[in-house]
Amino acid sequence: MSVEREVYLDNAASTYCNGEVFFAMQPYFITNYGNSSSLHQIGYKARKAVEEARVNVAKIINADPDEIYFTSGATEANNWILKGVVAASPIKRVLISAIEHPSIIEPARWLSANGVEVEYIKVDENGVISIPDLLSKLSKPTCLVSVMTANSEVGTVQYINTIANICSQNNVYFHTDATQALESVNIDVKEMNVTALSLSGHKIYGPKGVGALYIKRGTRIDTLIHGGSQEKGMRAGAYNLPAIVGLGKAVEICMRDGNTNNTRMKKMRDYFIQEVERRITGVKLNGHRNQRLNNNINFSFQSVSGESVAAMLDAYGIRVSTGAASCSEKLTRSYVLQEMNVSDDYINGAVRFTLGRATTKEDLDYTIEVLVDVIKRLRSISPVSVKTEVAD
Ligand code: PMP
Repeated sequence: MSVEREVYLDNAASTYCNGEVFFAMQPYFITNYGNSSSLHQIGYKARKAVEEARVNVAKIINADPDEIYFTSGATEANNWILKGVVAASPIKRVLISAIEHPSIIEPARWLSANGVEVEYIKVDENGVISIPDLLSKLSKPTCLVSVMTANSEVGTVQYINTIANICSQNNVYFHTDATQALESVNIDVKEMNVTALSLSGHKIYGPKGVGALYIKRGTRIDTLIHGGSQEKGMRAGAYNLPAIVGLGKAVEICMRDGNTNNTRMKKMRDYFIQEVERRITGVKLNGHRNQRLNNNINFSFQSVSGESVAAMLDAYGIRVSTGAASCSEKLTRSYVLQEMNVSDDYINGAVRFTLGRATTKEDLDYTIEVLVDVIKRLRSISPVSVKTEVAD
């Protein structure tokens, strides 16, 4: 087979920056470059742009604009909510799901090393949070529960409404990391009783290095960065103006085109799943079959290593990951799949394909053809490959 095209199926790691977003940002580098704290006209233009972006970000989750705080991304937002709530609360105990992104897991570990009790809520084989486990762990006083809206690796979407209501009934703050879910899942923080939510620009066709934390008015949380009066003094420092404008535009496009994009993406996702399952044996779809992100497909191929599959696909112009980008560099076994009780053979053969707005059916057909061939070749040289031949 020859390299016929470039196919980017790693949109969960990062998306391209949408052209409309890029052009909306441009003036804020060159002409409207003011500091939003300055009292003159150029400063005013900057301030106005920041506030317009804030209105858009608030709108997509039905928050009020004054509940949105701009950050350098979801990692910062996630660190802030965990450390900030614990610092401001007399209750030093938090619950997080066992399959959170490292930007929740690592600050939680840090808290744990600093005397805070951290417990991990279990998930089932589909990556769905165990409600009985959550309820039992809430029997002790807790200041914060954090459960991601959707998992970046296996795409499972949580029953956020139920979890948020349970937390609210127990008077516990509830945070959700919606980084992967903003376009795929409808979120209404007011109706759902969500205390805090993280999001990021570069997963929704906006720029990298910008994100936001929604914090419900009245929430007790410590300041993240001390300094000037930006973000009500909670997160000081001159605004990353072009990036904030870009985030605002990216969110606006999600609201405008979300339905069309989601319908198209879901159709392609299901087509890809169906074709892979039809043509390759010894394959397992990781994550919930229906309750999953519209653009996420995570397959484990028995008797091959995910890294080998990804490397061979790369040689054919097809870009995929073996798991979350922030973990795959380390070549460690996926803790998400381990928590879901996936067997070792399948964990090693996991590959994540995440579709994007630019993905076409032709891209998927090419990927399927190459994938069938790659799996066949890898299994033919695998010492453990016995009954898992490719079907055609
Ligand atoms: N949370 C989730 C679920 C993510 O997928 C990512 C990015 N991989 C992050 C947080 C971190 O986002 P950022 O790159 O904006 O810091």
